[in-house]
Amino acid sequence: MNGQQYGGQPIYILPEGALREQGKSAQKQNIAAAKAVADAIRTTLGPRGMDKMLTDSMGDVVITNDGVTILEEMEIQHPAAKMIVEVAKTQDDEVGDGTTTAAVLAGTLLKESEALIDQNIHPTIIVQGFRLAKETCLKALDKIAIPVTLKDTDVLREIAMTAMTGKNAEAAKDFLAKIAVDAVVAVSETENGKVVIDLDNIKLEKKHGASTDNTELVRGLVIDKERVHTGMPTKVREAKIALINAALEIKETETDAAIRITDPSQMQAFVDQEEKTLRNMVDKVVASGANTLFCQKGLDDLAQHFLAKNGIYTVRRVKKSDMDALARATGGKVAMTLDDIESSDLGYAGLVEEVKIAGEAMTFVRDCKEPKAVSILVRGGTEHVVDEIHRAMEDAVGGVASTLEVGKAVAGGGSPEAELARELRRQADKVGGREQLAIDAFANALEIIPRTLAESAGIDPIDTLVELRNQHDKGVVSAGVDVFAGKVSDMAKLKVLEPLKIKTQAISSAAEAAEMILRIDDVIVASKLSGGGGPPGGMPPGMGGMEGM
Ligand code: ADP
Ligand code: MG
Repeated sequence: MNGQQYGGQPIYILPEGALREQGKSAQKQNIAAAKAVADAIRTTLGPRGMDKMLTDSMGDVVITNDGVTILEEMEIQHPAAKMIVEVAKTQDDEVGDGTTTAAVLAGTLLKESEALIDQNIHPTIIVQGFRLAKETCLKALDKIAIPVTLKDTDVLREIAMTAMTGKNAEAAKDFLAKIAVDAVVAVSETENGKVVIDLDNIKLEKKHGASTDNTELVRGLVIDKERVHTGMPTKVREAKIALINAALEIKETETDAAIRITDPSQMQAFVDQEEKTLRNMVDKVVASGANTLFCQKGLDDLAQHFLAKNGIYTVRRVKKSDMDALARATGGKVAMTLDDIESSDLGYAGLVEEVKIAGEAMTFVRDCKEPKAVSILVRGGTEHVVDEIHRAMEDAVGGVASTLEVGKAVAGGGSPEAELARELRRQADKVGGREQLAIDAFANALEIIPRTLAESAGIDPIDTLVELRNQHDKGVVSAGVDVFAGKVSDMAKLKVLEPLKIKTQAISSAAEAAEMILRIDDVIVASKLSGGGGPPGGMPPGMGGMEGM
């Protein structure tokens, strides 16, 4: 099939065994793959969404409700399906929440396009319509959004809670939401009137073996390391912290110099000299006034001994990222050599202590003054629980941060999607022509969100959509699906709030992925990928297994 005729001679441009699918059939297969991905995670959407249990080839089990985690664990291979996974990953990177929404939306946009392609509407027209629709959505979203600032901690907490509803974190939601908000507010900075948050400054550590209520915000850092010497104190109050990126060791000579020792006294002198050098190094730390030392490099045994004698709590081989975080948390400066440590470069923490958590000794640097880096130690009874709480926490932290950065939030529960659908249908009437059909399709696709929420709540999705349209026509812009009461309600009144960016990012990347897939009319699979025995239809293996989910 990959041969063209030229003067009676077939011309082959592809290697033997390559598979190729063209035109409508290529489009249909891509759409089918994208739909399969969306279907696989659709039922997890919302607080009443179900969980998925996934096992990998090693037999490790993951139980989750988190869109991007499911898609990553599924190890999807189909190229178009992978593009949908990319949508979820982008959403995760950019917002940290809303991954299911984004992927489901992308799949549904393609599903709606299929009907248009069947009516012989050219994909280019659909793409144009989708672009118009996307622009309209972004503008309309901005109009219905409410402003949020660093001072609106109550609103921020509602946003954190919405991000966590339906995850295993449910029981401790209030408490965890407060931690998420406090952490984000602590590390936020205002530059030219804009809030800037670097999420790298919030370190999430997880440890099983204690209930979720023991999750704590550490205003400083939790480091997965113990002090180097048992002779050192386990607790240092009013810690003055030296941060050093240099070894307290005697350098090995680089050339193989042999030292000839002719009598025992020379040996002793040599050892004494080494000891003196190390003692000198420790003296420099002591002279700076430090009572705590975090060293990025190694420590000689003897240096450890001297540090212990001086009562200095010391941790060695601290990761670079932790050193940077320590500097930001304690207000200290990392010295590059021992001679550089000055007392003004020391950081401060109210308490540095070693604590055994789940049988492992960890170092806690607590109670820093205005720390610009903090840690959250996530706890949960078992490993699976703590993993899911950790993911919920990531969603909450991400949601709060992106709300603050954009400075706006919207109501949830499918209310923005319903409002956008209404707005689009009005626009479609004005645009007319074939693009109108594409804009209508976009509106239908958006309604997958309230429709799915209704299904998960066990209420009739059609009745719900009708009621939603009624409410929105009446001007209740935040009418959405109250999944707990099983009816349409004003989500703003119920305080179900989400960051504006969840919606703008999900709609933008879903629309872009759908456009990209719609423009493809030729799929060529190199013979290597198909392995000769792949499933029929020119697709690499891996897709078949998805449809059953
Ligand atoms: P995602 O990965 O897209 O964030 P979620 O499973 O977190 O998926 O579900 C998010 C959806 O659930 C959003 O549409 C959100 O508005 C909705 N939602 C969250 N909390 C509630 C609630 N209490 N009532 C109704 N809908 C809610
Ligand atoms: Mg979510």
